[in-house]
Amino acid sequence: MSEFELINSLKEKFSGLSQSCEHPAVLGMGDDAAVLAVPGGKQLVVSTDTLVSEVHFFADTAAADIAAKSLSVSLSDLASMGAEPAWFFLAISLPEIDLGWWEDFCDGLLETARSAKIELAGGDTTQGPLSITITAMGLVDEGHALRRDGARPGDLVVVSGNPGLAAWALQQKLAGETAPEQSLNALNRPQARLKLGRALVGVASACIDVSDGLSADLGHLLTASGCGAEIFTGQLPIPTELAHLDARDRWARQLAGGDDYELCFTLPGMYAGQLPALSQETGIELHIIGKIVAGTGLKILQDDGQEVSMPNAGFDHFRK
Ligand code: ADP
Ligand code: MG
Repeated sequence: MSEFELINSLKEKFSGLSQSCEHPAVLGMGDDAAVLAVPGGKQLVVSTDTLVSEVHFFADTAAADIAAKSLSVSLSDLASMGAEPAWFFLAISLPEIDLGWWEDFCDGLLETARSAKIELAGGDTTQGPLSITITAMGLVDEGHALRRDGARPGDLVVVSGNPGLAAWALQQKLAGETAPEQSLNALNRPQARLKLGRALVGVASACIDVSDGLSADLGHLLTASGCGAEIFTGQLPIPTELAHLDARDRWARQLAGGDDYELCFTLPGMYAGQLPALSQETGIELHIIGKIVAGTGLKILQDDGQEVSMPNAGFDHFRK
């Protein structure tokens, strides 16, 4: 198989996808560049992420999982902006051509793209260490993107799903143990919260997706918004997979874990009553875990009011 055949196989596999997408490319894969039409009154939201073998995933992870996660990571950024997925680009570097691996990779990618209704509009294929860069593009109504900088004192802090599960699966794997299935799923097949993100437009005051750990990412939102927050450990959900852990151990996974791809958002008090309906409509658990306060920084408080100190620096590829 040649580079040309690889690209062609992708093109064939993904050819049916554009019909099911809301905004098919004017000109997709095959020319020197794609031509995309942004409908009037909409703005383009663009995000790119790279996943490198043995840095972001184990090399022996199933190819379909690697593909699905690579796309989901970018979709999660679209979700946190409240965008509707439209097009994505795949720049992939492969050490060699392994047909079985490639088929599985394409299948995982296609499955995820189908469910998000996002079209593969182009990319690049090169030989080199396994690395996948996906650029995802979505659309929002003009001026309505969800941003990090809109939180205000008094807003509630809400998180979706169960942060900490992916970190738990990773820890189990590194220790040579078998991770429980739901946490393995969280690690290998994160589900971008697209429906939730779109439902939050006009409701949430600020939003961020949780990729580097809840406290670190909430910290970014606080910095952008120019305020502080208090998080109450007693309000963190207790998923069965983490229920056996000592409380402090569990909080560490939940607040500093990473790889969650949940949404953390702030909600003006007047909308608090809408949370149950939002949760039902999206099929996603939503937990109020704290509130925005005046000042700066994140305080994590136990039921008795005592502050818990937690590393909240988040993941840094270059930290020694
Ligand atoms: P060029 O030499 O002009 O960069 P390429 O041979 O890299 O062209 O790509 C030819 C076409 O195939 C382009 O439209 C490009 O977007 C598409 N393409 C190449 N690799 C991929 C990929 N991994 N995923 C999707 N589209 C791809
Ligand atoms: Mg090229």
